[in-house]
Amino acid sequence: MTREAHRYDHLTSPEAEQAQCDGALLILPVGALEQHGDGLPLGTDSIRADHVAHRVAGELAGRCFVLPTVPYGVSPHHRTLPGTVSLPPTLFAELIAQIAGELAGSGWRRLLVVTGHGGNAAALGVAQQLLLSSHAELAFAWSPVTALATEANGQLPRAEVTGHSGESETAQVLAIDETLVRRDHLRPGATSLAELSPRALLSRTAKPSIAVTFDQYAPNGVLGDPTTATSEDGEAILDEVVAAVTAYARRMLAL
Ligand SMILES: [Zn+2]
Repeated sequence: MTREAHRYDHLTSPEAEQAQCDGALLILPVGALEQHGDGLPLGTDSIRADHVAHRVAGELAGRCFVLPTVPYGVSPHHRTLPGTVSLPPTLFAELIAQIAGELAGSGWRRLLVVTGHGGNAAALGVAQQLLLSSHAELAFAWSPVTALATEANGQLPRAEVTGHSGESETAQVLAIDETLVRRDHLRPGATSLAELSPRALLSRTAKPSIAVTFDQYAPNGVLGDPTTATSEDGEAILDEVVAAVTAYARRMLAL
């Protein structure tokens, strides 16, 4: 293994102290270990978060370091399909708050969590509230991945129903490492509202939030048609995400 300059776990103790004294930003990628249909790996969300974090740190060379990725997330809605390993949301919130609190306690002042998994959002909000009580001096922010690429996602040929393991997510994994995608096994999941179970339909068409397990969307746990995804689309999506997170990180560094 060769040393990578912006990896936190490749720093020595004096180097970490220096970076902390310099006011560097830390990025914590978080993901999930959960079903992603028949064509994408279980670690898809961690892989995408990790990719974005390292590219952002590369843009901000010397001022930003990437912590080791948290590869487990909050995925009870995916448990009905094989391969999923979920943490309780309270444990996930406390894990993030604990890591952040450790860092704040040793003097770090800026931490940005990048989550590749939307199911972590509520728990990250809880972590944010916990940290406001325990370490209000820490600038703690969290960012999604896919949702930031509004322009590039808008260019995709997307089905009426799209999302998990669909067009955008599959394109991103193709762009990061196409050997991770089992192209022969990519299959459409739910692609139209007419196919959805009553509860899944309610979750997709009304503002009040209702939770749904993914087998209620489609038997293969996929939303949308991943067979139309291309690595070129994935590059455009990831470029837009990296640009947006980098711009935000620069503003955090200026705090
Ligand atoms: Zn995912």
